[in-house]
Amino acid sequence: MLMQTDGFSKTVMSRDILESVLKNEFEVYFQPQVDEKMELVGLEALARWRRAGTEWAPPSRFIPIAEESGSIIALGNWIFSKACHSMRSFQTDFFTNDISLSVNFSTRQLESSRLPGFIGGLLAKADLPPWRLTVEITESRVVENFEAIVACLHELRSMGIRVALDDFGVGHSSLSRLAELPVDIIKIDARFTRNLPRPSACLMFDGIVKIARDFKLNIVVEGVETWEQRNFLLQYAPLSLQGYLLGKPMGLETLKEFLTKDEMTVHPESNYNY
Ligand code: C2E
Ligand code: MG
Ligand code: MG
Repeated sequence: MLMQTDGFSKTVMSRDILESVLKNEFEVYFQPQVDEKMELVGLEALARWRRAGTEWAPPSRFIPIAEESGSIIALGNWIFSKACHSMRSFQTDFFTNDISLSVNFSTRQLESSRLPGFIGGLLAKADLPPWRLTVEITESRVVENFEAIVACLHELRSMGIRVALDDFGVGHSSLSRLAELPVDIIKIDARFTRNLPRPSACLMFDGIVKIARDFKLNIVVEGVETWEQRNFLLQYAPLSLQGYLLGKPMGLETLKEFLTKDEMTVHPESNYNY
């Protein structure tokens, strides 16, 4: 039974989530990811929800409720399907076919043995090769069915899809997870970026990068907000950067305008996709 909090019921919100998925009321925003040369290398799909046609509900509010109630499976699958569709339109407009698409998948979705088939089918329909997709694992609850999740990730990787451990360094996304999960990329959480280049933050950051390199993982740094942070991070190239400095999450049409204004370069020859 979902608890009553903040003056409104989680059960009601969970029902509204399912209803909004059925009515196509969610939106997908995209946030740019760039390499150290500031060239666009990827887009992260992020769910947006204007609840009941009124205010925007923050993902930090509705994603945990969707996870708890299980509606994240319908929502996450809808977001993935919509993101693939948008990616196709993006590449038609920008004549590019090497920008990667990152999509957040809840561990609830990964528990299903049918997920790899579902993902493979939608990628084929959108004409996206598997290496263009990065599955970001977001874990906001204690995982019960760990073996099924690991098996699913192995299958996705055997299809050529890459796996990123999101929010690395905080909460459930810890060092022990890195040893247990088959991943290609870590996304260093914004909390580690925030205080760069203060000496204590630099030490911490340095340690995380070293671990990633030892595990032969690619790195995406989240929460890059200032030029000072970006310039400091250059010494760790190759890596990808994501944050408000490089672009906020935007609807597809706004993103296309943003890129057309040449605020960022789409680089078709980039052979460094992360
Ligand atoms: P995330 O996957 O780590 O996504 C990055 C979050 O950081 C996004 O928040 C983004 O707007 C925010 N962000 C990006 N750059 C900056 C920056 O420079 N400064 C600051 N302060 N924040 C920045 P958002 O969109 O509110 O999403 C929050 C979380 O909700 C996501 O974190 C992800 O865990 C979850 N989420 C969002 N969409 C989905 C989805 O479709 N499925 C699942 N399972 N989870 C999702
Ligand atoms: Mg993410
Ligand atoms: Mg993150």
